[in-house]
Parts: sequence; structure tokens; C-alpha cells
Amino acid sequence: MSLGLQDRRDVEFLVNEVLHVERLFDTERFGHHDWSSFELILDSATKFAHEEILPTNSLGDREGAKFINGEVHTPPVFKRLYKSWREGGFIAVSEDEQYGGIQLPKALTIHAVSVLIGANVAFFNMPGLCHGAGEMVEVAGTPAQKKLFVTKLFSGEWGGTMCITEPHAGSDVGAARTTATLQPDGTWHIKGQKIFITWGEHDLTENIVYPVLARVEGDPAGTGGLSLFLVSKHKLDASGKLGARNGVKCAGIEHKLGLHASPTCTMVFGEDEPAVGELLGEQRAGMKVMFKMMNTARIAVGLQALGLAEAAYRYAHQYAVDRLQGSAMDQFKNPDAPRVAIVKHPDVRRMLLDMRGTVEGLRALLGFCAFQFDLSKALTGSEAEAADELSQLLTPLCKGYASEVGFDAVSTSITVLGGHGFLRDHPLEQYLRDAVIARLYEGTTGIQSLDLIGRKLGRRGGLALMDLSGRIEATIVEARAAGLEALADRVAKMRDDLAEGAMHLAGKGLSGDLVGPLLQATPFMFLMGDTVLSWLHLWMATTATKVSEPTVFHRNKVATARHFIVQAEGRVRARTATLVNDDRAPMDAVFEGE
Ligand SMILES: Cc1cc2nc3c(=O)[nH]c(=O)nc-3n(C[C@H](O)[C@H](O)[C@H](O)COP(=O)(O)OP(=O)(O)OC[C@H]3O[C@@H](n4cnc5c(N)ncnc54)[C@H](O)[C@@H]3O)c2cc1C
Repeated sequence: MSLGLQDRRDVEFLVNEVLHVERLFDTERFGHHDWSSFELILDSATKFAHEEILPTNSLGDREGAKFINGEVHTPPVFKRLYKSWREGGFIAVSEDEQYGGIQLPKALTIHAVSVLIGANVAFFNMPGLCHGAGEMVEVAGTPAQKKLFVTKLFSGEWGGTMCITEPHAGSDVGAARTTATLQPDGTWHIKGQKIFITWGEHDLTENIVYPVLARVEGDPAGTGGLSLFLVSKHKLDASGKLGARNGVKCAGIEHKLGLHASPTCTMVFGEDEPAVGELLGEQRAGMKVMFKMMNTARIAVGLQALGLAEAAYRYAHQYAVDRLQGSAMDQFKNPDAPRVAIVKHPDVRRMLLDMRGTVEGLRALLGFCAFQFDLSKALTGSEAEAADELSQLLTPLCKGYASEVGFDAVSTSITVLGGHGFLRDHPLEQYLRDAVIARLYEGTTGIQSLDLIGRKLGRRGGLALMDLSGRIEATIVEARAAGLEALADRVAKMRDDLAEGAMHLAGKGLSGDLVGPLLQATPFMFLMGDTVLSWLHLWMATTATKVSEPTVFHRNKVATARHFIVQAEGRVRARTATLVNDDRAPMDAVFEGE
């Protein structure tokens, strides 16, 4: 038996029977699609992930990217892979037809992305960045910029990047020192250094596009004074024909814990010769444009967490069914008793169900959020606004909470294999190393938590949180009617705890206490993540309970929900109690040298 990278039945259950994504097929924006488009894309992504990408994962990790004489060489297997990847046309399936996409809802495409990522996250960063850079130009570019860049980026003909970080400006993006100076011909000269630039230099495409955050002399300090510029590795004429090299070069790549095949580059702009760029969007509106892309990128990082967690879970599941060790519980005193598969041991079952709860819960969270995003584009008026608010509220969870609990699931998968999980004979040690980064880039977990409590919770008087609470209540009512009273009661308590925690933080903020909320931001994000996933599990369990002829799959959905909700309730209770206790010890403690 081979389980593969993704539970297709669970994906279909979510989009089809729980979320009812087909509602989008009745809208003008997505009306040209039906379930067959989804099946086609998921079938081909799954086949491509297993047959073409997966075999390169360990090889890429061992060979890694190399920096030789100022050039970056990617693992040789990536060249053929990238070519077939481009031929597959996956990069921009959710984008407009004019740019080579088919405008498929994100609520559907994310499941294709997640299986592709699970096959090789280091490789997948490359097309992900092409898409992200293309999206920025699509959102903010002039008609000429769109014509020149978008299709080339969406098709992967040119590589894309995102150039924000500098040595002294990581989380503190507004501290960026890269400058932009206007030239008489209307172009800009960019000068400065950006570090940690993923796929900043490589040998897979003939050109690379750098959207760079920089400050025009005289513009204010902080993020509000930053503008966004497009710099191309090669100078371009109006038709996009490549000319001489521009003044941007790679000064080296990082040697790091994971993601070995994904080059992490130091990029120097304008050192020996001018790095000529053009303004993207309005001057001083760089962060606004970047944020649009970063929201998509944060969902993409959440999908990395899901893709790796699911690949790890399914590998551990398979191993637990195959590996014989120990006897059955009722035979433990009998040395001659037949050995059983470790999946028969309660502790191993507990770990497997922990992982499954995380994976299926994260899938539902990301799927729900992507669906809200689609609805915000497809509907109009207050319905579109409500969907937009909800997707914004949940985005920090899709990145921050997902990357943390996804990492925990990968870690648990290693424990399921025992000492064997520690070995390179199995892919799990690589998955673990590759999973760490999701907690760090696109803003660390701490920064996501600050975004959640500082910007998202209180937006428009807490409208989105109230909407979420109303949706949780509706599911509770439905679950009770379906006979799931005990589970519904637990989720109701969590919903109340979430409200108590949010009110407490808001009260502190209103009274002028900033330290309390800042100390509790990350615990609050976990509290909210556990509550939201419990709600989604309850929703899925209720749907499964209502099926007239339930199968093993439906009974599993209820068991998984029971396990997740019972565990999460304890965590949420404890976190709420701690949160309202206002522990200030971290501020009172002295860290020598501070
Ligand atoms: C492999 C890799 C790939 C990357 N790819 C890219 C890329 O393509 N493009 C790009 O621009 N960047 C990229 N980055 C950079 C990444 O986004 C930053 O590393 C990240 O945002 C954190 O910045 P930092 O490393 O400087 O950490 P710091 O900002 O120094 O943070 C250190 C710690 O302090 C905490 N902290 C900092 N400020 C605050 C605060 N105000 N409140 C509370 N806590 C705070 C953080 O949460 C963190 O725990 C990449 C990084 C890596 C490692």
C-alpha cells in the first residue's frame, strides 16, 4: 500500500460537501468553471508531484544550491524539472486568462499547490515567487509594465523574487536603507544591499525580476516612506528583449538548516554600475503593494506547512502499518505472542490522530480562507466586504498558527518512526529541517501575532471577529441537531474563551497598557487557532454525521474531530486562564547584558 502525499477524499469532502465551493460556479467571475476543471487540475498536479517533483526532493537537498564565481548553480535535476513544470502551466491557474491563467478559484487551486509543495518545498519556492512578483505588477503596474512583465512571470519564463530584507531591517522593514534616485530619463537608480533573497540568483531562467523596496531621498522614515521598484537582471527594451546585464549581482548564498536546494542570496544593487529600475505603483506606496502580495505569500507559507505536515503524516501512517514491534496489549506478558504493527499501540494511534487532526484542520482553515478570498472577488457590496474582512482576519492564522502546528506534526511523525525517523533513510528529517523556515519568513510567528491583535482583531470595530463568532454559533446549533451535543458544548466553551481573551486584550489596549497585549499576542494566536480549527472540525464532523450511509471515511472524520476538539479545549482553557492572569514576569526578569 502506498498512501501518497495527499488525502484526495478529504480534499473533495471539504470543497464539495463542507464548504460547497460550487457556489462560485454561479458567479460571473468563476461561471466558466465546474467540478471538472478542479478534477483536471488536481489530477495533473498530483501526478506531476509524485512522478516528477518528489524524486528530486532528497537529491536537491543533498546537492544543494552552489555559489561559484559569482554564479548560483541549482541542483542539475531542477533544470529538466523546471522545464516540465513550465510546460504543465501550473503557476498562474488562478489568474486572469489575459495573463495565461484560467481564473480557477483559489479555494480549489490551493489543494493542487499543497500537494506540489509537499513533494519539494525548496523547488516550489521558485514558481511561487514568479507568481508573487507577477501579482504585484498585475495589481500596481502601468499598462506597459503589465504587458512587459506579468505573462513572463506567470509563465515562469522569467524568475521572480521579493526584495525586502536588509541586514539591519528584518522584521523592522521600515528601517530599510536602500535608496532610489530619479534620473533625467525617468528611470531610477537603486543602491543598497538586500539579504536572504530566495531564488535571488539561479540558472533556471535567462532573466530575473527584482521588486525592491527602497526609499527616495527626502521621503519620510519608516514603512510609509518606502516605494517599490522593478529591477531586471538584464536591461530590457520596450518589447522585453534582453540587453546587457543591469547593475545587480549576487554576492553569496547562505548555508542553512534546510531548504538546501533553494538559494538564499545576498543581492547587491548599484555597486559597480547603476541598477536601473522603474517605479511600481505610486511613490511611498511600496508597502501597500507589497502587502497585497504578502497576503497571498502568507497563505502560500501556510500551504507549505500543510503540504509538509501531510506528507510527513502519511509517511508515518504508512510506516506504522508496516512496522512490527511489540505484542498486542492483552498479550504483553507473553514473549511468544506474535508481533503486531505499531499502529496497534495506543500511544502510536494517539500520535497519528494528533497529526491527522492538524492536517485536516489546517486544510479546512486554508480552504475556508481561500474561499472567502474568492467570494470577496466574485460577490459585490456588503457580502464581498464581509468575505474580505474574514479572510484578512484569518490570514495571520493561516501563516503563523499553521506554520507552528504544522512543524509540530512533522516533528511527531519522526517520533512515530522511533530512532529510524532520525535517519536519512527516511524523508522525515529533511521535512523537519525544511519545515522550520515557515515559522520565520514572511514575518515570524511573533510578527503574525502582532498583526492579528494589532491590526486584524479590532478592524472596523471587530466586525470580522463577530462574523466568525456567529458562524461558530451556527455550526454549534447544527451539530447539536445532528446529535453531537458534547462536542458542540466544548466548541461553545472555546468560542466564549476566545471572546474573553479578545475582550481582555482590547480592554488592556484601551486602558493604555501596551505591554500586556504584546506579551500575550502569540499565546492568543494559538488560542484562536485552536478554537477556529475546532470549529472547522465540528463543521466537518456534523457534515459527516448527516450522511445517510456513512463509510469508514465519515466515521474517521468524527473520530478525528473528537480527538482534536477534546485536546484543543484543554489548551484553550489553560491559555485563556493564563492570558487573563496578566503575567508580567518576562518584563520583570533581567537578561544580563540587555
Ligand atoms: C531561508 C530564508 C529565506 C528568506 N527569503 C526572503 C526573501 O525572499 N525576501 C526577503 O525580503 N526576505 C527573506 N527572508 C527574510 C525573512 O523574512 C526574515 O528573516 C524575517 O522576516 C525575520 O527577520 P530577521 O531574520 O532579521 O529577524 P529579526 O527581525 O531580527 O527578529 C528576531 C526575533 O525578534 C522578534 N522580533 C523582532 N521585532 C519584533 C517586534 N517588534 N516585536 C516582537 N518581536 C519582534 C522576531 O519575531 C524574531 O523572533 C528569508 C529568510 C530566510 C532565513
